[in-house]
Amino acid sequence: MKGLVYDGSKAAIRDDVEVRAPGPTEVKVRIVSAGLCHSDLSVLDGTIPWPAPAVLGHEGAGVVAEVGEAVQHVAPGDHVVLHTLAYCGACKWCNIGRPAWCRKSIANASQPFTVAGEPAWNFAAASFFTEYTVVRGIQCVKIDPAIDLSVACLIGCGVLTGIGSVWNRTNLGQGDTCAVFGVGGVGLNVIQAAKVRGARRIFAIDTIADKEPAARSFGATDFILAGPGVDVVQRIRAELPTEIENVVGSFGEGGVDYAFDCVGHPDILNSALEMLDWGGTAVAVGVPAPTATVPARVTNFTHVERTLTGSRAGSHRPHWDIPLIVDAYRRGLIKLDELVSARYPLEDWETAVHDLHDGKLARGVLTVSAA
Ligand SMILES: [Zn+2]
Ligand SMILES: [Zn+2]
Repeated sequence: MKGLVYDGSKAAIRDDVEVRAPGPTEVKVRIVSAGLCHSDLSVLDGTIPWPAPAVLGHEGAGVVAEVGEAVQHVAPGDHVVLHTLAYCGACKWCNIGRPAWCRKSIANASQPFTVAGEPAWNFAAASFFTEYTVVRGIQCVKIDPAIDLSVACLIGCGVLTGIGSVWNRTNLGQGDTCAVFGVGGVGLNVIQAAKVRGARRIFAIDTIADKEPAARSFGATDFILAGPGVDVVQRIRAELPTEIENVVGSFGEGGVDYAFDCVGHPDILNSALEMLDWGGTAVAVGVPAPTATVPARVTNFTHVERTLTGSRAGSHRPHWDIPLIVDAYRRGLIKLDELVSARYPLEDWETAVHDLHDGKLARGVLTVSAA
């Protein structure tokens, strides 16, 4: 079968990929659609070190082809959204509603594939840029077959990461204010999650002016075009000044209640921290290089009780959050169709990469097999 294979330096479509049969707790899925996420590209540029050869792709949806004998919640023919969190279900964290903290859910590199007859690794416990993959049963969430799989495929990574970063990692609520750095596939979901929660001001910040219409259509009330000479921290403070005139200096200038770095850059994360009002929270969502550090002023914490926290792919509880998002989509509260900027045959993945780099895409979706 065909698949997009990383060989240690670059990726290419191969037609000699095979996958083994599912074990007792596993499911074999025919992939219909898969979103192109920055994390796939991070493997290619070395930001995410990964063994090779490996089959890429980690944001997908498809149809169950075969289930292991112990799998009971899905059956062949079911339409499923897949996610990468291969959590164990039996540890403390899994049982207190924090499967993202399950130690068994990280990396999960194994070799269910062969390429040209030689063992090949999966990626992020997933590998959706191929016709069939084998995942743990717990990674499959059944959805109504009426929902377009080329839209549903985005839920498993970009949508969960953005929405979960707001709903699961903050207390953002009615009347709060927030700033969102990076208006891409994740940032748009942070914006719409904040809107659903009732934020009164949502500042979208990006270096590409063309992203303003999408940001506003997803719920941003303001757009700041970042770039050389633009001090976004001061821009935010000018919009949301403190009401107490005699409180001056860096501790009293006002700011947002929450700021989300969806880009994954230390300077942006530091700006996110600096633009907070007293008691505000900055959330690291985007993933920088493993060695990246943040030069934060400690007085942010000791004097005005700002918080710097992180979000591991939205800290999601897949079997609760995915149905919740599907329900919100059907009720018109959450946009999914509008996230898909373009669809490409799997073979045209390089065009999708170029379009992503050019800032043309919220999300590009690769069509792997016929629905
Ligand atoms: Zn991803
Ligand atoms: Zn666990």
